Amino acid sequence: SAEPLFAALREKLSPRGDIVSESGRQRTIELFGQPLTPQQVVEKICGDIRETGLEALLDYTRKLDGADLTAETVRVTPEELEQAHQAAAPEYLATIRQIRDNIVEFQRAILTEDVKIVRQEGPAKVELRQRYLPLRRVGICIPGGAAAYPSSLLMTAVPAQTAGVKEIAVVVPPTKYGGYNVDLLAACRELGVTEVYRVGGAQAVAALAYGVEGIERVDKIVGPGNLFVALAKRHVFGEVDIDSIAGPSEVVVLADETARADFVAADLISQAEHSPGSGVLITWNPDLIPAVRQALEEQCARLERGDLARQCLEEYGALILARDADEAARLADSMASEHLHISAADPHALLAKIQNAGAIFLGHYTPVAMGDYVAGPSHVLPTGGTARFANGLCANDFLKRSSVIGYSHEALAQDADAVRLMADKEGLTAHRASVDIRLADD
Ligand code: NAD
Repeated sequence: SAEPLFAALREKLSPRGDIVSESGRQRTIELFGQPLTPQQVVEKICGDIRETGLEALLDYTRKLDGADLTAETVRVTPEELEQAHQAAAPEYLATIRQIRDNIVEFQRAILTEDVKIVRQEGPAKVELRQRYLPLRRVGICIPGGAAAYPSSLLMTAVPAQTAGVKEIAVVVPPTKYGGYNVDLLAACRELGVTEVYRVGGAQAVAALAYGVEGIERVDKIVGPGNLFVALAKRHVFGEVDIDSIAGPSEVVVLADETARADFVAADLISQAEHSPGSGVLITWNPDLIPAVRQALEEQCARLERGDLARQCLEEYGALILARDADEAARLADSMASEHLHISAADPHALLAKIQNAGAIFLGHYTPVAMGDYVAGPSHVLPTGGTARFANGLCANDFLKRSSVIGYSHEALAQDADAVRLMADKEGLTAHRASVDIRLADD
């Protein structure tokens, strides 16, 4: 059975897993002079930001990211955004716009609209409504520790804009991949995102959640990040809303007899290259497994990040032979993976057997990279088996809803006995009185 293997993979890849926390622990010993777990580090950072605000934010940015910023330089200026935009190649900006348009088209199509019903008998009228409004102010975490992610900006900011969010504050570490990355800054300017702060990690999440001098607190924090970002989001949840606690990237490829070994290998490597990242093949075609193994060797030897991907696949990957298509689909479903690629002649038949996956990619010509970069649904997805209950980010996550209830005098009279009975059962006499007082003159 593949389940124990999956459980072991999950444990290793979870945000609590050793792969990230080991290195976290090492650096934290240096930082605080005592062995704190990543969880304790995050609690301390968040507590300090809450207490001393901007001072602690700049202090942690100095200690953890080696950037000596001030109240003035922590925010990217409009001139810096403009310069980055002007320096950007026209084809890069055109691609940003093309992707933005794809995202807007899809996110607008799925946007939830108000629902209203009216229950009416003569003058007795009850109006019931579910009203959706955009969140006022949202914080977006863009990673920048090890690579630049303009794609993550698109996949978070554009759904928020499509939902109608007016204020978007971006936080990104003060690195050449982050707050000093011209591609990222040019993309911000192209999308009309003008509030960008050069802070990352737990301290950035805490600043967004509590607010510090110069950074107003937000209503919701979204976006990917490393272990410290993930733990900080969990820590501040309740104070603000968050999207999810995401761990490393992963793909499950469900492949039939028509799947090409070189395509499948490329899919597994493309997630493993996130390093950490994981790729699992599940097939019922015994010939595919050795062929994929060989293709993995060849491609890892060729690719720039091939060594990193190979290490990840050796540690967290698997090539699994199932008895038949049903068992393969059941295993893929039980993995509840972030990405599920159905590499098959009739992908829809297998799709019908799947309940749990963050995003599903159909057929031989839809590599995960299409969803990562251009298609339209956000690439911010549930990882680590949480697709069992969690969803990928979308424009609707930037809406909040209120129920709206309106009774006419006659409708109140009609439903009054039901309120009286329930209020009596619960001993809440003031509830009953609030109805009786309105009907006293009837
Ligand atoms: P990051 O930008 O999320 O975080 C870097 C910050 O972590 C630093 O600024 C620092 O403040 C903090 N930090 C680092 N070590 C620390 C320590 N020992 N103690 C306290 N704080 C510490 O980092 P990253 O390295 O770029 O990682 C980004 C992650 O996000 C990767 O795992 C990547 O795969 C993932 N990602 C996911 C998606 C997605 O949509 N699922 C997209 C892009 C990136």
